[in-house]
Amino acid sequence: MLKRILVVIAVAIAALAPDLGLAQPQPQPNRAGRVVAVRAGRLVDPDTGLAALNQTILVEGERITAVGSNLSVPPGAQVIDLSKLTVLPGLVDAHTHLALTYKEIPENNVYYFTYVSDSTALRAIQAASNSLQLLSSGFTVIRDVGNNGMYADTALRAAIEQGWLPGPTIIPSGLIISTTGGQFQPTPEMYKNHSIVYPEYLEANTHDDIVKAVRENLLFGARTIKICVDCKPWGYSVDDIKLFISEAAKGGAKVDGHVQTMEGGQRAIDAGIHVISHGQRLTPEQHAQMAKKHIYLASTDTPFTPYRGSAEGQAQAARQLKSAWEKGVPLTFSTDMDYWNDRMKKADGDWMDRGELTINFLLTWKAAGIPAKDTLKAITINGYGAADVQGERGSIKAGNYADLIAVAGNPLEDIDALRNVQFVMKNGAVFKRDGVITIDGLLNPGPVNGWRRR
Ligand SMILES: [Zn+2]
Repeated sequence: MLKRILVVIAVAIAALAPDLGLAQPQPQPNRAGRVVAVRAGRLVDPDTGLAALNQTILVEGERITAVGSNLSVPPGAQVIDLSKLTVLPGLVDAHTHLALTYKEIPENNVYYFTYVSDSTALRAIQAASNSLQLLSSGFTVIRDVGNNGMYADTALRAAIEQGWLPGPTIIPSGLIISTTGGQFQPTPEMYKNHSIVYPEYLEANTHDDIVKAVRENLLFGARTIKICVDCKPWGYSVDDIKLFISEAAKGGAKVDGHVQTMEGGQRAIDAGIHVISHGQRLTPEQHAQMAKKHIYLASTDTPFTPYRGSAEGQAQAARQLKSAWEKGVPLTFSTDMDYWNDRMKKADGDWMDRGELTINFLLTWKAAGIPAKDTLKAITINGYGAADVQGERGSIKAGNYADLIAVAGNPLEDIDALRNVQFVMKNGAVFKRDGVITIDGLLNPGPVNGWRRR
């Protein structure tokens, strides 16, 4: 549907162009490797909450080389005029599952059944589609934390990095590591005769199991480690979590814990985990501890909409989010947006795409009364911190990868400006311009960036 709309828009613009005296569409500067000068009417720094007017961003290849108001544009550089728009770093969803789409029909929203009925291969193709939809909405970094079948997430990361298709920077966890049972309630026959928990979960009960499980995930391409701290009453102890952290560090990864109880939350905090996911039972006192230890919160704050959630559920999520914000927890924008039903339509009857469904979680941030500039920091800078990529992505400054988006309006004042992303540049290549996806030159017949990137 999205593609059809874009084609219609593109055709309409092409048809109107001669009458309006507009220039014919120019070749898009998709290929990384050339020099591009981006003229930004307003350039936002979400870290400081400040904006500068009339800035130029020079991009060479995949990276930003200079930013300023009086830069001379090198001869031959392609100029992209965003002087009527606000430019800002790409967005981050710090908790989602690209290769999972559970449905009301036929699975009654039980993802155990989705896992049984959708193969990893089918889910990998869903993930590729979802990643394009999210990039179109401005999400340039995705923490993809498990429930992706047999490593569909790490395969997607490799495919994007190798150059098969454009996409966000994927920070995949590989399989979620859990004590017996994962998040499933299998029958004894399915558990014992068919090992049904694997590969949706990688079970690890002893310290030897934990070391082996972390190493397997890293070997198969994980960039973070996701664990079930308390999915079952026999979850992980503080010592167990510390072992996860030290073993993951050997592969340059940090640990994200699914937390659903107060006690589990305390164990994760005491162990010094990097990210707490969910955490809906955390107390204000625990939020204060998280702030002190700089533990990121990815609380997956489901909004109440015609297609999902309840008013009470959203109110509870908003209360928790507000408490965490008041205590100074580094908040991230996170969603668990991994489901579908036939009510996910807009007023005109068109489907909402995965990007639109994801950005709609802003509803909960607004219900919590979080100021726009703090929400903007959560969905950018704190997301980069949680993804552990802030050394090379995030702020729009020389040396960083050129991951930029542009919107009409000013998201520092009105966060809903993020709902209408007009321009997306990822690794220096233009993916979306004037609201239209420009995929020409971004699909390749082989691993053009190197087959060794795995
Ligand atoms: Zn999740």
